[in-house]
Amino acid sequence: MSTVATTDTYFDIKKIRTDFPILQQKVNGKPLVYFDNAATTQKPQQVIDAINKYYEGYNANIHRGLHSLAEKATTAFEETRLTFQKFINAAESEEVIFTKGTTDSINLVATAYGRKFIKASDEILISGMEHHSNIVPWQMLCEEKGAKLKVIPVDEKGEISLDDVKSLINKNTKIVSVVFASNSLGTVNPVKEIGQLAHKFGAVMMIDGAQAASHCKVDVQDLDCDFFATSGHKMYGPTGSGILYGKREILEKMNPYQGGGEMIKDVSFEKTTYNDIPYKFEAGTPNIADIVALKSAVEYINQLGKENIVQYENDITAHAHKRLAEVPGIHFYGTATNKVSVVSFTIDNVHPYDVGMMLDAKGIAVRTGHHCTQPLMDHYGIDGTIRASFSVYNTKEEIDFLADSLKDIVAKFS
Ligand code: PMP
Repeated sequence: MSTVATTDTYFDIKKIRTDFPILQQKVNGKPLVYFDNAATTQKPQQVIDAINKYYEGYNANIHRGLHSLAEKATTAFEETRLTFQKFINAAESEEVIFTKGTTDSINLVATAYGRKFIKASDEILISGMEHHSNIVPWQMLCEEKGAKLKVIPVDEKGEISLDDVKSLINKNTKIVSVVFASNSLGTVNPVKEIGQLAHKFGAVMMIDGAQAASHCKVDVQDLDCDFFATSGHKMYGPTGSGILYGKREILEKMNPYQGGGEMIKDVSFEKTTYNDIPYKFEAGTPNIADIVALKSAVEYINQLGKENIVQYENDITAHAHKRLAEVPGIHFYGTATNKVSVVSFTIDNVHPYDVGMMLDAKGIAVRTGHHCTQPLMDHYGIDGTIRASFSVYNTKEEIDFLADSLKDIVAKFS
């Protein structure tokens, strides 16, 4: 079982694995090897307990109630906001808006910022490695407004160049939205530098942080981004929970996303005055239980230490590249210098789906297909890849098992 000496503590994988009850099971009669963490991570007992505790002990609707349960639920809900504020180093907790996740957050910006500020002939700049959720909302906005979507090219290593960004940004660029860490390639993009270029031309900078929150250091003030989106379920938290960070002065200028309860100060049939941020963007009863439990996920990451996580994941990812390179006919997609724990590949003469099914029979869960990045797959001229994505509970022994299993599969097909 892997253990690794990290900066300030001993990263005890054996102990970490016991925090995740789902990992203790067998799949198809074999111990589960879960390598689909870029799709969603598993949940530690602390997060599962937080959900149960909420429903067993203080389920109540938040903000409006004066009774004890409502106060307790409101306090827990708002504590997650404070915890998340510190986690991403936002200047104020009001700059943290709760959403269903990254997709919801990007749609919020495309709708509430885009509809108000984008006009015909404006340009929106994204990269060629974006997830569909950082493409389609902008396409919809461009279609509605007659604006233009421009794309930063991706090179063979799976990187984008700042020179290309410079040549694509101009005074018509109004929004730049780029993924921090690619879910298909693992590439970590120079989002801070891209943001500086965006700001030089007066554009706002949005970061898709879906893969970043659990794998990269995130400091929104240092990044100086205008918006940052992420999903709770990719950082050991519950599905249906996420955040949008936005700078106060921009959020205040935006229209509401949805109308309804909570987002108002005063309603009459003649006129409605909107609530202050963040509530202006949180119409209706939110996903209270899961947002409450999201705090436990952040605390779990904090307790392990982001630097330790990054160090450990880099270590096992390097091991994966080394071991998988032994598989005959393998081709890697995403060999960037700076990358998170995602290894994407194809194998000559074996379809990714066949590989996925044969690995599943051995208890290994990987993802196969286009990973919601079809334009990126088109760029490489492939239908999809096999993707193994690692997390804090994965071990070098599991990676060795993957490499050996892939060799067996190749032998069967040759
Ligand atoms: N962006 C990236 C880079 C992602 O990996 C994902 C999820 N695969 C998303 C956006 C969308 O996240 P969600 O489905 O949680 O809204």
